[in-house]
Amino acid sequence: MPVSQHSSRGAGWKATRLRILERDAYTCWMCGGEADQVDHRLAKSKGGADTDDNLSAACARCNNSKSDAVMVRTPYWDTEYLANIV
Ligand SMILES: [Zn+2]
Repeated sequence: MPVSQHSSRGAGWKATRLRILERDAYTCWMCGGEADQVDHRLAKSKGGADTDDNLSAACARCNNSKSDAVMVRTPYWDTEYLANIV
């Protein structure tokens, strides 16, 4: 049986998603905003696992902008933050 790339969003995903959102207090891991999604820090397509430590709460803005890249704590639009770490 072929396994799709998004197989993690099957039966168990709903429970996992809720667990991660509650663990992270519905706070986006990247920007600290209100999160209503959960995504892989290291994308599955890059070899990321479906384990709790590779999953983080994320807001739609960060999740969409991240796409398939590795999730970083620095949103690319946060130039003030970038200026402080570069
Ligand atoms: Zn965010």
